[in-house]
Amino acid sequence: MVFIVSEVTTIPIELENYITLFDVPLPTQDEILEIINDFITDLSISVDSEVINEIALSFKGLNEFQIRQILNLAYQNGGNITKNDIHLILREKAQFIKKSGLLEAINFSGTIDDVGGLDNLKKWLYQKEKIFSNLDKAIKFGVDVPKGILLVGMPGCGKSLTAKATATLFKIPLVRLDVGRLLGKYVGESEENMRKALQLSEAISPCVLWVDEIEKAFAGIGESGGGSNVTTRLFGQFLTWMQEKDNMVFIVATANDISKMPPEFLRKGRFDEIFFADLPNSDERRKILNIHLKKRGKWNKEIDLISLITATEGFSGADLESVVKNTIEAAFISGKDTITTEDLLDSIHETKSISDVLKEKIKNLRTIISKFDIQPASASDSKG
Ligand code: ATP
Repeated sequence: MVFIVSEVTTIPIELENYITLFDVPLPTQDEILEIINDFITDLSISVDSEVINEIALSFKGLNEFQIRQILNLAYQNGGNITKNDIHLILREKAQFIKKSGLLEAINFSGTIDDVGGLDNLKKWLYQKEKIFSNLDKAIKFGVDVPKGILLVGMPGCGKSLTAKATATLFKIPLVRLDVGRLLGKYVGESEENMRKALQLSEAISPCVLWVDEIEKAFAGIGESGGGSNVTTRLFGQFLTWMQEKDNMVFIVATANDISKMPPEFLRKGRFDEIFFADLPNSDERRKILNIHLKKRGKWNKEIDLISLITATEGFSGADLESVVKNTIEAAFISGKDTITTEDLLDSIHETKSISDVLKEKIKNLRTIISKFDIQPASASDSKG
């Protein structure tokens, strides 16, 4: 019997039949506690048991070597282990993400209040926030940790914005999975990268794992050809991980076009919920215009929102933002102090909205959506 120990699982094809793979699991919560207690005993320092428990939770997902390394660093810094060392752990985890090059840590300073409308979706997220802000208590109570959501919808309707704001709302880190980044040139390399990326997301959990434009990320699934075989396998790997997921990674996947997406993805159970972000209705357009005008300090009571709402039927959130931006820029260039309803209307008339550009696509997407059990992201009581 031969034991081969390796960090990577690239097996020569000739040996595949003779090899059985064993994953060495990462330390469990009890094992982490044991590692910390050993460390403390060796150095004869005393640390409060509450601090030990909290630190142990943050260490989750790291291997023994990494845990010992961080404990050493913490001890050298302050001569003891304290609650503040959690920040050190999170910083070190962010370093692991950077070094791995497999996931992208995203800094986002906005909040859920930057999202105009989409009230149904936001209501759902506020409920889950109650779980994430008391995760330990919720798990002990028997609550299942939320798995994640799929946001489908028109381009520029706030899907990415909501994905990022979810992490701020839950007060957990945001990391992006870019499938293109995982593709390697050697046999099995892409699958190995995917495995590592998913493992890494667990290591830094609780976190939001954002998969942007998921339909493009796994494009070509089911088609023939070399490249698409790899994406099919990666997709399968991702699906299995999602199915078996028993961790604190909250997935937010976004998609524009679900017509090519495998139906198994849209089946209930993978995600907690699937939401459709349609073009903003009148009430939502008012809120979005308000947000962007206020953000740039250009909101004033003279602005007649009603006429703006009427003139922007069929505009996306991104269209509305660019109307505000263009108006402010034009006002500045022509030396004005403020902006008026007329300025905004001029800019609206110059803008080609998404409905002008993607008329057919929007119609098709609405038809597809109506065939699935997908919730509207907007509140049902607001008018179109
Ligand atoms: P895509 O599918 O093209 O990635 P998306 O739905 O993810 O589009 P976002 O990237 O979230 O769209 O939106 C682009 C920009 O438009 C946002 O950064 C934001 O400034 C503005 N925007 C879109 N929707 C909203 C909204 N509901 N509230 C406020 N701003 C919005």
